[in-house]
Amino acid sequence: MHVFIAGGAGYIGSCTTEYLLDHGHQVTVFDALLNGHRQAVDPRANFVKGNLAELDVLEAAVEQARPDGIIHFAAFIEVGESMKDPLKYFRNNVANAINLCQAAADNGVRKVVFSSTAAVYGMPRHLPIAEQEPKQPINPYGESKLMFEKILDWQHQLRGLQYTALRYFNAAGATQAHGEDHHPETHLIPLVMQAATGERRQIFIYGDDYDTPDGTCSRDYIHVLDLAQAHLLALESDYCGSLNLGTGGGNSVKQVIDAVRRVCGHDIPVEIAPRRPGDPARLVADSAAAKRILGWKPQFENLDAIVESAWAWKQRHPHGYQE
Ligand code: UDP
Repeated sequence: MHVFIAGGAGYIGSCTTEYLLDHGHQVTVFDALLNGHRQAVDPRANFVKGNLAELDVLEAAVEQARPDGIIHFAAFIEVGESMKDPLKYFRNNVANAINLCQAAADNGVRKVVFSSTAAVYGMPRHLPIAEQEPKQPINPYGESKLMFEKILDWQHQLRGLQYTALRYFNAAGATQAHGEDHHPETHLIPLVMQAATGERRQIFIYGDDYDTPDGTCSRDYIHVLDLAQAHLLALESDYCGSLNLGTGGGNSVKQVIDAVRRVCGHDIPVEIAPRRPGDPARLVADSAAAKRILGWKPQFENLDAIVESAWAWKQRHPHGYQE
C-alpha cells in the first residue's frame, strides 16, 4: 500500500511511519512541522511540508501520492491548552481535518484511519471502558476528536468512505529511531525521565488522595509500536467504526515513577502537588473489540518494557530531536 500520513513527523505518526515502511509499504508524510520534527520523518518516506488548513497544497499532495489509505495524526493534543484556547482546537482538529476528508473524497481514497482518544469518554462510569460507554468529553480536545469521529461516520454513511477511529489510551514508549519529544512536555513518562536525569528538579504527583490503592491516578499505558500495529491492521480491515486501544491494565503515577527508577537506576525526587483538574482516578481500556475485529495483538503488556524502550531512546537522543 501507499499510505498518506498527515502528522507523520509527530510522536505516534513517526513511529507508525517507521512501522509501515518496515512492513514493506510506501509512505508519504504530510506535516506542517508546527509541533512535529523534520528529523522525526523517516528518511525512507516522501515528505511534503504543508498544513491541513491549505486545501490546495493538501489536494496537490494527495493527488501526487495517489494513496490507498490515509492516516490522520495531525491534531493538537494538549488538554490544558484546549481549555484556554478552544477555537484553536476546533479550527485545527475539526475544520482543517475536514479538508483531509475532502481531499480523500476528491482523490478516491477508500480508507481513513483516525487518531482518536480516550478523552472522548470524559469521566467514565464503568471500567474497563468499552466503546459503547457514553461519550461525554470534558474538554475541547476530547470534544474536537469526537466531532471528527462523527464527521467520518457521516462520510461513511452518505459517501461510502471507510474509516476506523482508534481511541488510544496513554501512548508511551519508543522505537529504536523514534520517540516522544513534545514542547512543552506534559506527559508523565518523559517528565519522570527528565527528573531522573536532572533536567527537572522533581516530578510533581498531581494528587495522592484518589480512590486508588496508592492514592495516585491510574492509566492504561500502551506502547506506541502496538498502536502502530493497530493502524496497519485498521488500514487492511473493512471495519468502519471506533475502537479502543489499551492493554486493559492500569499503572498508577507512583508505579510509573518506580518503573523509571528501576529502569534507569537514578534517584527521582518527587513532590506531591494538588490534583490536576479534569483527571479521572482511573482509565482502563476494554480493547476486546480491536483484538476480535482487527486481530490486534499488543506485544508490550508490561510497564517496565515500555519504560525501557523510552529510556533507551532518551539515551540515544538526550536532547530529543534538537541535535
Ligand atoms: N501526572 C502527574 N505529574 C505530571 C504529569 C502527569 O502526576 O507531571 C499524572 C496525571 O495527573 C495523570 C497521569 O500522570 O494522572 C498521566 O498523565 P499524562 O498527562 O501523561 O496523560 P493523560 O492521562 O492526561 O492523557
